[in-house]
Amino acid sequence: MASGRPVPVQMEASAGVAAAAPAVARPRASRARMMRQYDLVERVRSYNPDTDEDLLNRAYVYAMKAHGEQTRASGDPYFSHPLEVAAILTNLKLDDATIVAALLHDTIEDTEATRTEIDKLFGHEIGALVEGLTKLKRLELVSREAKQAENLRKLLLAIADDVRVLLIKLADRLHNMRTLEFVPPASRHRIAEETLDIYAPLAGRMGMHEMREELEDLAFRTLDPEAFAVVMQRLDALAERNRNLIGEIEAQLSANLGRNGITAEVTGRRKRPFSIWTKMERKSVGFEQLSDIYGFRVIVGDVACCYRALGVVHTTWPMVPGRFKDYISTPKQNDYRSLHTTVIGPGQQRVELQFRTREMNQIAEYGIAAHAFYKDGVGSPTELVNRESNAFAWLRHTIEMLSESQNPEEFLEHTKLELFHDQVFCFTPKGKLIALPRNANVIDFAYAVHTDVGNSAVGCKINGKFAPLSSELQNGDEVEVLTSPVQSAPPAAWESLARTGKARAAIRRATRAAMRDQYAGLGRRIVERLFVRAKIEYADDKLKGALPRLARSSIEDVMASVGRGEMKASDVARAMYPDYKEERIARFGGKKAPEKPGAKPAPEPGKASAVIPIGGLHSGLPVKFAPNGGAVPGDRIVGIVTPGEGITIYPIQSPDLKEFEEEPERWLDVKWDIDESTPQRFPARLFVQNVNEPGSLAQIAGVIAEHDGNIDNINMSRRSPDFTELTIDLEVYDLKHLSAIIAQLRAKDVVAHVERVNG
Ligand code: MN
Repeated sequence: MASGRPVPVQMEASAGVAAAAPAVARPRASRARMMRQYDLVERVRSYNPDTDEDLLNRAYVYAMKAHGEQTRASGDPYFSHPLEVAAILTNLKLDDATIVAALLHDTIEDTEATRTEIDKLFGHEIGALVEGLTKLKRLELVSREAKQAENLRKLLLAIADDVRVLLIKLADRLHNMRTLEFVPPASRHRIAEETLDIYAPLAGRMGMHEMREELEDLAFRTLDPEAFAVVMQRLDALAERNRNLIGEIEAQLSANLGRNGITAEVTGRRKRPFSIWTKMERKSVGFEQLSDIYGFRVIVGDVACCYRALGVVHTTWPMVPGRFKDYISTPKQNDYRSLHTTVIGPGQQRVELQFRTREMNQIAEYGIAAHAFYKDGVGSPTELVNRESNAFAWLRHTIEMLSESQNPEEFLEHTKLELFHDQVFCFTPKGKLIALPRNANVIDFAYAVHTDVGNSAVGCKINGKFAPLSSELQNGDEVEVLTSPVQSAPPAAWESLARTGKARAAIRRATRAAMRDQYAGLGRRIVERLFVRAKIEYADDKLKGALPRLARSSIEDVMASVGRGEMKASDVARAMYPDYKEERIARFGGKKAPEKPGAKPAPEPGKASAVIPIGGLHSGLPVKFAPNGGAVPGDRIVGIVTPGEGITIYPIQSPDLKEFEEEPERWLDVKWDIDESTPQRFPARLFVQNVNEPGSLAQIAGVIAEHDGNIDNINMSRRSPDFTELTIDLEVYDLKHLSAIIAQLRAKDVVAHVERVNG
């Protein structure tokens, strides 16, 4: 803001001179005469002499024709609704584009009209506004929980990327609330609650207090008609008794302060039914005891004047004891400062007063960010500025520009909303709203819902369609996370996919815990095997007693250390049985298991190979297939443990297994853990001798491809002029699949010999 000018944005009926204004006294819309085309143009021209009348007229006619015979619940022509919405916005003195977009706001959603057509007839700017409103309208269909109101308001802000969209939306809601009585009771209730939860606070946050209060009162009247009637009755009686009280006090107060050399802006207002009611409920007091039905605000030049003005008031009228509060010497948490007092004013009516400086008023209106405005950008506020209150302050500033500016170009550059654009808001299937940083994906969403949901997530649906877990989320997406009880820990690779710290930390925790469990399980097998071989007894209790000697705090720790290769199984045996002697294996010239405690660091979780569905093992533990020929489902398999590295899976018939014959403690019983529907492929190797003739290689590759085998690699060597020997690494689903490919290869004339390596 260019000057220190305090300009709280207000709706037309500025400052509660609302004394005479009825609390909620709009005539029943359906009985009101529908505004004519000319009336609307006149309203706009009254504040904008340069208005494009032709544009307004064309929009009027277009919307009227588009809605045609449609009617509202009240029986009125539907067109009366967009027309009234436009009229509400003329009170805010908004630009032509806003008024036109208001006239057209329901056309895309409810009529044959399209964005393209509106763009063509009214231009891109208006088209974008109408489409923005269409998006917000669709959002209303999403189920929701009332508790999520704050996030829903942010979602509205995030989706509406032009402040004018929000203003039209609020006017739309206001008109719908004014005509709510014609809507069936069940939806009436829901709409009123939503108004109270979302739209009224949004209007308030945007600085449109008048609109907020009307929305609140209309909702209150719907939700609790009896209470509303009681409050209204009482207010009317008071208004009758205290006719012109507000004007009287305002005049007396200004004159008194002036005599004492204090220049003050005094504004008074009667409180609104809803705020009176909430105060009655909050303090559980009856209407009679409720003192502050009349409230006055006294704005003065400096702090000293606040106290002097207070003195003047206290010497003019008797003060009500116990009601004085000094929020200047002791500001509230949110930096709110003011003096509050209550006095017995004219007509024995209790009157609440607030005294503050302009700057204090700015802060009360705009929040902490007002410091920045007030100081004209010079010297940033020392307080931590809350991002959200900043965003709203900025928004209010923008609206202020909008309604004051005479120059459309000038305010247009202020209308692009960047609020909450660094956030994305999505729903669970039950309507819970989850706020995430922009670029977040389903993994982040799952962890935001619950760590268990994240850890067991295996897939997802976005807006009812299957999608990858790495899908980036869009505002308003409904996300269903599919979980599997079988998955106890997430794939370690997710850590780099997740965008939120919460998800990353949870993934790291879960994979670490899973790794540790895996290593502990592995270590236990190694230890148990050694004990069986050595024919000594293993018992947890006995190991427990040996923990100090192993410098470990738990059995799990010991086992995990063995599994990771940091500790030898024989160390465990020696700690439990001090006279245990390691049995040497000398059959093959003293060759023994390569045990080098701590020589190799534990592999990083991220380096674990892809999930291999092997029974008894889990994701996270490094598992790989035999380097020479792999293994495929259907093979009987065995795992060979290499401490500190992981497990290698061999087909039981693999000749390479001979190498490990002397180290039975490294052998692990494993089995496949997949069903036929698993679309995963596994490595196998074929040895093929083929006849050297043109195209023979193509024929072989063709057979494999035809049978849905994936060739990874082919090595060729020519041993004789007639034959070529091929080593083919391929990926197949299972043994049946591999056997079928082998059979088909054998059937080819160019193939002399085929055999599986390692099979
Ligand atoms: Mn509407």
